[in-house]
Amino acid sequence: MEPTAHAERFADLIGKANVLTSPEDKAPYLTEWRDLYQGVTPMVLRPGTTEEVSAVMTYAYENDLKVVPQGGNTGLVGGQIPQESGDEIVLSLGRLNRIRTVDPAGFTLVAEAGVILDALHDAAEKADRLFPLSLGSQGSCQIGGNISSNAGGTAVLAYGNTRDLVLGLEVVLPSGEIWNGLRTLRKDNTGYDLKQLFIGAEGTLGIITAAALKLFPRPKKLEAAFVGLRDPQSVLRLFTLAKAQAGSLLTGFEILPRIGVEFCVRHLEGARDPLECEHAWYVLMELSSGSDAFNVRDLLESILSEGFEEGVVEDAAFAQNLSQVEDFWRIRHGMSEVQKQEGGSIKHDVSVPVALIPDFLDKAMAAVSALVPNCRPVPFGHIGDGNIHFNVSQPIGADKAEYLAGWDEMNAVVHGIVDDFGGSISAEHGIGRLKRDLLQEVKSDLEMDLMRRVKAAFDPKGLLNPGRIV
Ligand SMILES: Cc1cc2nc3c(=O)[nH]c(=O)nc-3n(C[C@H](O)[C@H](O)[C@H](O)COP(=O)(O)OP(=O)(O)OC[C@H]3O[C@@H](n4cnc5c(N)ncnc54)[C@H](O)[C@@H]3O)c2cc1C
Repeated sequence: MEPTAHAERFADLIGKANVLTSPEDKAPYLTEWRDLYQGVTPMVLRPGTTEEVSAVMTYAYENDLKVVPQGGNTGLVGGQIPQESGDEIVLSLGRLNRIRTVDPAGFTLVAEAGVILDALHDAAEKADRLFPLSLGSQGSCQIGGNISSNAGGTAVLAYGNTRDLVLGLEVVLPSGEIWNGLRTLRKDNTGYDLKQLFIGAEGTLGIITAAALKLFPRPKKLEAAFVGLRDPQSVLRLFTLAKAQAGSLLTGFEILPRIGVEFCVRHLEGARDPLECEHAWYVLMELSSGSDAFNVRDLLESILSEGFEEGVVEDAAFAQNLSQVEDFWRIRHGMSEVQKQEGGSIKHDVSVPVALIPDFLDKAMAAVSALVPNCRPVPFGHIGDGNIHFNVSQPIGADKAEYLAGWDEMNAVVHGIVDDFGGSISAEHGIGRLKRDLLQEVKSDLEMDLMRRVKAAFDPKGLLNPGRIV
């Protein structure tokens, strides 16, 4: 059957206005943030309810049509972009954007998959609660995409990955069946925990249409400092001091290199260097508490003064109010964006055991500089979780395309070092299309076989997000 005939049938199911077929209408769904993929699709479908998603999937399954779920399209491994073969239909979840329930007493919230993370924060805040997931892309990414990619971000240190924030899911299976696992229970040991399979599955096993999520007390006290340090060893020592003294009150601990702060000052509107002198490395450190009982500022000062005494802290600026806290975080969250302004950037989203980060950074920075003289490593990120975004900007004046052509070679060098340190080649961004072939190199044959068997059990025809992960 011709795509036009399918489009007409889909229009009967979800309304003509929600079947996009013109090049202009489809365009925003076909490119992604890093410009690594340019997708091709016969149509973009925008169902508005779980039942409509189910109707679309039932029809697609019966007619052997491939489908790619897409949330906010901020994913960094290409999973949400239809392949160049042109035979994958994009199913956008953006219209499923209702908050279904908020239960402040039970500290839970039920949201549809297309709710934007910022809007979810607002809904929690209105109920005097916190939904802690925090990402640089939170103005665009959707909770369904966050769950499908098991997103990490800056609050993992205190609250865990997205996986730790999910209580239940509603999922439309590739066959169109609706699985209602939307429970808000904190304890439920009744057989296999099926929701875990869909979390981090990157849309390969089913389409998440709604989620029951955990809420937390909203911080009443929040303090942050921007700290200058000499080297990653000092950063690690400060982390140990902070974690030992603050425990779960330590809600942010992010590392930034000098070059990253320079990029922000240069390219991020209104950003300024938080400290008077230059330092080789920086830490953005945040402490917060849901209770008025703690003097969080005293605790922050005590940790940093111990750091000064030990000689690991060179200088620190304390945020004097919430707007300054936000200014500090703007620099951290701007790190990905500003690198775009500096030409090509080869990325590695890696993790190693926290205590090995300084050694990893030494080795990896030396290795990429030997491979591409004058390249500019910009390693930053969630050091408290052992997760570094080891990004490497092109040498000044180099040809961008020529530099990016060395992507795989540099990846191989950095991932080899990650492997030596017992780390992961994808700490939080997932596998998608970008790292699919790499996955086979780092997983055992048995692990790959088990993953393929899970895929086949949920999607025997291989129609949902084909070519991603397995
Ligand atoms: C500036 C910036 C900063 C970022 N910072 C972080 C960070 O700190 N930590 C981090 O982990 N990530 C980060 N990311 C990556 C990205 O934002 C996250 O992976 C996010 O969770 C993706 O959500 P999305 O709605 O945009 O999903 P999309 O990009 O639309 O999709 C991601 C994957 O999930 C699938 N999918 C989407 N929605 C559904 C659904 N409802 N059901 C089933 N499958 C679905 C897609 O097919 C795709 O495979 C960042 C990205 C940017 C651009």
